[in-house]
Amino acid sequence: MDSKPVNIIGAGLCGSLLSILFARRGIEVTVLERQPDPHDVPVAGGRSINLALSSRGIRALQLADVFEDVEPLLLPMRGRMIHHEDGSSELQPYGQREHERIFSVSRAELNRILARAARERFGVDLRFGQKVLAYRPEESLLTLENTHNSETYEISNKPLIAADGAGSVLRRAFGPDSYISPSESLLPHGYKELAIPPGPGGRFQLATGALHIWPRGGFMLIALPNPGGDFTLTLFMPNEGPTSFASLDSAAKVQAFFSQHFADVVPLIPDLSQAFAKNPVGILGTVRCQHWHVDSDLLLIGDAAHAIVPFHGQGMNLAFEDCLVIDDILASREKNWSNVFARFEKRQLANANAIADMALENYVEMRDTVRDPKYLLRKALAFELEQRLPGQFIPRYSMVMFHPEIPYAEAQRRGARQQTLLEKLTANIDSLEAVDMDAAAKVAGDCLQPL
Ligand SMILES: Cc1cc2nc3c(=O)[nH]c(=O)nc-3n(C[C@H](O)[C@H](O)[C@H](O)COP(=O)(O)OP(=O)(O)OC[C@H]3O[C@@H](n4cnc5c(N)ncnc54)[C@H](O)[C@@H]3O)c2cc1C
Repeated sequence: MDSKPVNIIGAGLCGSLLSILFARRGIEVTVLERQPDPHDVPVAGGRSINLALSSRGIRALQLADVFEDVEPLLLPMRGRMIHHEDGSSELQPYGQREHERIFSVSRAELNRILARAARERFGVDLRFGQKVLAYRPEESLLTLENTHNSETYEISNKPLIAADGAGSVLRRAFGPDSYISPSESLLPHGYKELAIPPGPGGRFQLATGALHIWPRGGFMLIALPNPGGDFTLTLFMPNEGPTSFASLDSAAKVQAFFSQHFADVVPLIPDLSQAFAKNPVGILGTVRCQHWHVDSDLLLIGDAAHAIVPFHGQGMNLAFEDCLVIDDILASREKNWSNVFARFEKRQLANANAIADMALENYVEMRDTVRDPKYLLRKALAFELEQRLPGQFIPRYSMVMFHPEIPYAEAQRRGARQQTLLEKLTANIDSLEAVDMDAAAKVAGDCLQPL
């Protein structure tokens, strides 16, 4: 590798992890982050408080030798706890093996651990309070503000890695006709976070070990547990229209809406209407690019390259997988940054597009399809076929969440074939007993290559 120091913009989840992997390979790295040092200030709320971590992310944290620090923060979730409108609930397991679970983790704590490890264990030069104001691609020129003294300055160091998140200033410096050709597609739905505090004695007020969902067709509420005994609730719904964030414009309407659709949750949120009025509505969208790099000058990575909607719980996992892929290319003794970036793009671009599609599809599944008996029948059949055809039939959700060795694009392709098959096999029946399992396994075995 040529010995130039690397500048990473953004000490978020991706930038911090990447800086550790670079430092472990002896690459000199400086990280410039607009926020103040998280160790100096209390964490600001607003952005998703907890995240679902799964096997792709865990694999990258293990590679960077930081998983042991993160593990004590993790709360396992074995499946979706579906809360129906009549007040009943049912657990829909994510997988059928002991290790097939995902984990709720605090975004702020995870970020803090990564930043601390980068600086203290791996000697990364992390500079907080350094905000990129503008980027001029032709000259590779960054204009920054030092927020400690409001002074602005310029740097033109290369290579530059943009890990500055979904609203990346660096990506937005490129127009639609440029080589990067970025596009941002906003979902007409947004999200708002609320909280269920711990009950008496600090105990959880909902069952632990699950991600809770109140699917209501056009909108949904979800809850993930936090180590303090509280849950973070997120309401996803349209921004405009008859049932939307815009329509809930008074405390009375908020109370009435929650009482009508989420009656079991209302008593658990003591300050519902105040919190609803105070907390912002977050934006959701998908970022896609034609390319992620310009020669050896610049690479976009993580959300800056490919922000996705959060309904598969994969944005961070994908960003961590990006870091792992870069590290893998560096391990092959590739010496030239331009080649590293080009090889990275070749390996990950189709994967990022695939999980972006699957995440959008999953919104409909979470807010609606999970209530459909046919969906449950297909899921049960998929588990049965997985047992009969190990290494050949794996439910798509499991490929994405529990099989990091299967690229997202491959999971999407195989998932489509499997879905067609499941639809055919369950077309005229309504119970698993009605399926001729030997015949079903034979058909599935014939149309799917072993992995
Ligand atoms: C509601 C919601 C729920 C989510 N849930 C999940 C989940 O369950 N599982 C999952 O895997 N993913 C989830 N995600 C996605 C996940 O949050 C992102 O994919 C992940 O944070 C991407 O990491 P990143 O480092 O690329 O970007 P970020 O984490 O956004 O980090 C970007 C960093 O760059 C800094 N920065 C930005 N602009 C500048 C600038 N001009 N100058 C200097 N620094 C700058 C920021 O301050 C930040 O520190 C969710 C997202 C949302 C919105």
